[in-house]
Amino acid sequence: MLNFARGFDVAVAIFAVTACCGAVVHAADKLPLLIIDGQNNHAWQAMTPPMKAELEKTGRFTVNVATTPPANSPKEDWQKFRPDFSRYAVVLSNYNGEPWPDEVQTSLAKFVGNGGGLVIIHAANNAFPQWGEWNKMIGLGWRDSNFGDRVTLDDAGRPVRTVKGEGPGAGHGAQHEFVIDVHETEHPVMMGMPEHWMHANDELYHGQRGPAADMHILASALASKDKGGTGAREPMIWWIPHGKGRVFTTVMGHVGGNDTRAIRCVGFITVMNRGCEWAATGKVTLPVPTNFPGPDATSLVPDAK
Ligand code: ZN
Repeated sequence: MLNFARGFDVAVAIFAVTACCGAVVHAADKLPLLIIDGQNNHAWQAMTPPMKAELEKTGRFTVNVATTPPANSPKEDWQKFRPDFSRYAVVLSNYNGEPWPDEVQTSLAKFVGNGGGLVIIHAANNAFPQWGEWNKMIGLGWRDSNFGDRVTLDDAGRPVRTVKGEGPGAGHGAQHEFVIDVHETEHPVMMGMPEHWMHANDELYHGQRGPAADMHILASALASKDKGGTGAREPMIWWIPHGKGRVFTTVMGHVGGNDTRAIRCVGFITVMNRGCEWAATGKVTLPVPTNFPGPDATSLVPDAK
């Protein structure tokens, strides 16, 4: 018994050393990240380059982009779209368009199931209503009210489920600046942020619908009726476990033309960067920047153009 106990201590000590050094090496490694774009009802061409630049600026990621064929492309063009997800730690979707080939859908779901990270930005949650596993991964998507349940939060931040068919389906009111309220202040992505911060001009998605299973809501925003919203507290940032992987969603980030304010918000950028790191590793090393917005005023990085 004594020998066993001593052996155990040694094993623990060796493990601790390995874990320590492994972590140090890992922190220095860059995480390979793949952005997917190519079709969207948004100005994806104006979104991917600045998002890629902000991710790279952290020093934490190497970023590649896989662009799908445009809409109505011949099958041969789609046969060339076969991203090798297994080469990446995290995949960020800036895509809202035609269904991907079955092989690509299966490959992405397998990647996440095996522990890969998936990050959904804004209208990426509009895509693929017919893809069952995708709907499970994203939890809530831009769907009508008959598609699935809706989740809002009460004033205490507790989730409230509205069953399918009842209440509003997906929509948004007029674009405006609005306060993001953080609920999971101890979650690695949110830790160190102000509990309330002013997001730059954006669409405030409401009435999102889906299976919403195992959904962890990190932040919400009140969809003011004055702006055409629901009057309810709508989820803005959430994550869902999928197999060994993590799916991280933010519905912030509308870019419809040349106005990129939503994705130049330091809050959005921080959520994206940290969300990608966390989806990839389960940890966050990236700091909350000193110019992070407070509750009263927005904070934006300059337009690169
Ligand atoms: Zn939008």
